[in-house]
Formats: sequence, C-alpha cells, structure tokens
Amino acid sequence: MEMSLKGYLASGRVLIADGATGTMLMAAGLPAGAAPEIWNIEAPVQIMALHQTYLEAGSQIILSNSFGGSPIKLAKYGLAERAVELNHAAASLARQAAGDRAYVAGDIGPTGELMEPLGELTPDTAFEAFKLQAEALVEGGVDALWIETMSDLEEARAAVLAAKQVTHLPVFCSLSFGIKSRTMMGVSAGRAAAELWPLGLAAVGANCGEGLDMIPEVLRQMREAAPDAVLIAKPNAGLPRIVGKETVYDVGPDDFARQMQGFVELGARVVGSCCGSNPEYIGALTAALAGQG
Ligand SMILES: [Zn+2]
Repeated sequence: MEMSLKGYLASGRVLIADGATGTMLMAAGLPAGAAPEIWNIEAPVQIMALHQTYLEAGSQIILSNSFGGSPIKLAKYGLAERAVELNHAAASLARQAAGDRAYVAGDIGPTGELMEPLGELTPDTAFEAFKLQAEALVEGGVDALWIETMSDLEEARAAVLAAKQVTHLPVFCSLSFGIKSRTMMGVSAGRAAAELWPLGLAAVGANCGEGLDMIPEVLRQMREAAPDAVLIAKPNAGLPRIVGKETVYDVGPDDFARQMQGFVELGARVVGSCCGSNPEYIGALTAALAGQG
C-alpha cells in the first residue's frame, strides 16, 4: 500500500475489509470440530486461496486466520502449546497473500470463557493469553491487530491492553451486538466506545451480531460517546435461518452492499462483512462504494 495504515485512516477514506472466514473454511472442507487455525499449518494453500479471493474482490485489509488463536481457546482442541506457531503462521500466510498491495490485521477473537464472577476467567489470565497471541501475530508480519466479536467489556479491555503493550501498530476492536445494540453480556455500544476508544484504539465498532438493523444505532451511540473515533461496521449477512441441514443468511450481496453504503453515510469508515458472507459480498460492496466515491 502506498501509505501507512495510520495515514490511511487519518485521511478519512473508507477502508474495505474482508468477509467471513469460519463459514468459508467449513464450506472448503474444514472438518466439524476442528480448530480453523490448524489449517495454517496443515492446509496453508486453502488459507491463502481464501485470502486471495477476498483481495481480488476488493479487500484492502484482510484478517489473519487466527480468530480462535488465543491459547485459552486453542486449549479446547488440545492445541494451547502450539499457539505461537499457529498465530505466527496465520500472520505470515496473510502477509504472503497480501504482499504490499493490502494491509494485514492479526485477528484476535474471544477466549470462549466467561469472566469472573460468571466464569473462571480473570482479567490477568485473559491479558496473558492475548499478549502471547498478539506477540506471535506481530512477529508474523501484520500491519495491525484486530480484536473482534467481543461481548464482554472486561475481556475486550484485556485484549486491547495486551495488544497495546506488545505493539505500536494500530489496534482495532469490534464487538458483537444484538438487535437492541447491546452485546450478549449487556454492554451498550455507547459504553463500549466510551471505555475502549480512550485506550488508544485506531478504530472501534461492530462486527458479526444479529443482522444489520442495529448498526445505525450502534454507530450513533459510538459517535456520541467517542466523537473522534474511526468506526467499524462488519456485520453478518443478515440473520441465520436453518433450511434443511444448512444455515443460510437472509441478506444477499447487493442488498448487503446497499445497506452498507448507508452505514458509510452514517460515519462507518472500516467496512466489511462477517458470518454468512463470502467474497461476492465484498465484491458488491467494493463496486457500490466505488460508484459512490
Ligand atoms: Zn460473524
């Protein structure tokens, strides 16, 4: 890319991210019950191919295949000891795919454990796990870290603080909101932005979640709570429905792109798609935004 990611974000231009990884890998044959991160070692060609399809569709920043790469999450698959190796591989595959024509964000998702007092996860344990993951991703050559799909504010904070401790690269954080603009753990969009943006984020916003209808309210609350924030909108392709044995999402690429254009008008500057989407969604979004420009 011709400029640093910080410079790009400061320019106020829209940055197009990628779409779903997990649902795409399952479609590509990732066995049910397998950790997607194991494919960074065992099927790197598939991971590279997925990155390539998003880059060809117009993604300017792609997320590494490391969503479940915290050692706490990997422990559920007996892979905790391989956390450094799997995250490093995720970052370097994304870097190889993007070369210098797109930015790479090291993806960090939730641990899957509940924080105290509901569960046993403590802020310190979460911090250490995210720190190990963040270090391996940075070492693997990313341009940014992107903490996503968070619903617990304390877990999100632990991840942001860990990321900020290991790198001066831009750190993004997006949370997953339900239809009432609150996360599963009850955190409002306004509170999330008010507490996370001052930690020194490069962008804050929403990804995944229950469809697209809550995005305008999420953006409004975040803008009010953090007027200077760079806002992210990377929602699912609508709501999931079970048809036969398959899960399908109810918003198609063109409808998705049209709604996303509206979110850009409301201030979103980092845009993309999440579960149920594929490169067609990013292609439609890229075309729609080019027409708007
Ligand atoms: Zn999702």
